[in-house]
Amino acid sequence: MNTTDLRFRSNRVRDILSLFHEELDGMYGGGEVGVFCEMLFEAFLSWDKVRLLTSREQTIDQSDLLRFHWALEDLKQSRPIQHIIGYTDFCGCRIAVSPDVLIPRPETEEIVNWILHTIHYPLSTIHLLDLCTGSGCIAIALKKAFPKADVTAVDISPAAIEIARRNAENNGADIHFVQADILDPSFLLSPSSFHLIVSNPPYVMEKERAKMQRNVLDYDPALALFVPDDDPLRFYHAIGIIAQKHLDKEGLLAVEINETLSEETCALMREQGFIPTIHNDFRGKPRWISAKKKLS
Ligand code: GLN
Repeated sequence: MNTTDLRFRSNRVRDILSLFHEELDGMYGGGEVGVFCEMLFEAFLSWDKVRLLTSREQTIDQSDLLRFHWALEDLKQSRPIQHIIGYTDFCGCRIAVSPDVLIPRPETEEIVNWILHTIHYPLSTIHLLDLCTGSGCIAIALKKAFPKADVTAVDISPAAIEIARRNAENNGADIHFVQADILDPSFLLSPSSFHLIVSNPPYVMEKERAKMQRNVLDYDPALALFVPDDDPLRFYHAIGIIAQKHLDKEGLLAVEINETLSEETCALMREQGFIPTIHNDFRGKPRWISAKKKLS
């Protein structure tokens, strides 16, 4: 393929950027397309933002141009940018993603940051548990922040565990992975007591599919997203039972939630013997609940 076949006017950076904006701004908005370009230049050419800003007149190799061509086609098909480059950055950790795991979201980063500010830096070993770990992003970010912590991460999907393990290794985070179904009533773990239990479980109701974007519906794994309309809190129920058994009496429970079910999720947690607090995300939507055990 030559430059003309690729529809790029030239292999000059300025022209590549204009074509991306021309073809994608209508779909994503100019700001987001600018961010995509920054991510692609970083992934394909290891250029940082400053280099991109100051190299508009530079040209790139034909083989690199081809990669931009395919990236543009993929973005037109709503393929997530994180799948195109193969990773995302989460709390300063590079996390590989694939269609087997949910792409880590900025809302989830907020929860991790809140946890990091809430748990005082532990002097002795603390035990942390991440349920429905997916890519492993939460567990890895916590282990990086608290190197002395003993971190266990659980997921039902063997393919997700494989990616999470690779992510842990690439980030130098020693994590104990367990492949298990947390909905299974016989689910038990060692160590038996954790100082923190965190989870971003599936919480999107089937009836919410209609209002979801194609890049989520077509590319994120349904297993990590959806719950039945008639039992949308099934994972929180299971997490509550696990926390009753495995959370230290002074321990902290933190769960990401469906913004439309915050009150119901809180009510369930109260019934299960916790004192919950709802937290809003940066968009002002109820996004996570932190809870302590009610001490009798
Ligand atoms: N926040 C995700 C989304 O709607 C869902 C995450 C989840 O189900 N845990 O895109």
